[in-house]
Amino acid sequence: MSAEAVEPSAFEMPAVARDQAEAARGFMPPDEGLALYQAAREAATLAPGPFLEVGSYCGKSSVYIGTAAREAGRLLFALDHHRGSEENQAGWEYHEPDLVDPEIGRMDTLPKFRRTVFDADLEGVVVGLVGDSPAIGAVWSIDLAMLFIDGGHGEEPAHRDYELWTPHVQPGGLLCIHDVFPNPEDGGRPPYEIYLRALEDGFEEVRDVGSLRVLTRPRS
Ligand code: SAH
Ligand code: MG
Repeated sequence: MSAEAVEPSAFEMPAVARDQAEAARGFMPPDEGLALYQAAREAATLAPGPFLEVGSYCGKSSVYIGTAAREAGRLLFALDHHRGSEENQAGWEYHEPDLVDPEIGRMDTLPKFRRTVFDADLEGVVVGLVGDSPAIGAVWSIDLAMLFIDGGHGEEPAHRDYELWTPHVQPGGLLCIHDVFPNPEDGGRPPYEIYLRALEDGFEEVRDVGSLRVLTRPRS
């Protein structure tokens, strides 16, 4: 744990927000979601700037981070093209058929995302960025207090997200990566690979909860 980081237990997520986060659809177990909330609260004490997540789906992680953003007076940019990752498409493991727009035959999680953010009373704090991560990342210039990477988990998308977005993490700020599985039997490699890259690039691990890794960019 880095010397400057605050003990995570210093921040208790309000029960109402916690219930809303747990009720939202998505892929974020409660203990990892709480760790995200706590990391975002902590990030606000460590660095200036907004938070950004790559991969919002129906807004579950957005509620955890967004609640922290509201409490800290920050914004959360919640980036997603809302067409689903490879593993969300028909025939794949994490497909949810009711999230397909029947008229165009493509996934569309944007309506659910908006509803989740509305229900959690976070419309003033969570700013949806609807588009392709590399396209937005290529022109992005806002420094971030915290970055959460949970977008495409394939080799190319994960590494590209790492390369495009991590340069914006402020000194002292936090980088969170989801679905990091050191054991190949537990899940795909790319999130684990970008976690290793982050360590090689000088990020320091703050803590791990389930498949979530919280790292910090040391102040030099
Ligand atoms: N954080 C979410 C789960 C994210 S699932 C939760 O807590 O439930 C991964 C998401 O990444 C999907 O919604 C998918 O649409 C999005 N995604 C994948 N590749 C993307 C890309 N290139 N640009 C934008 N979003 C992308
Ligand atoms: Mg995930």
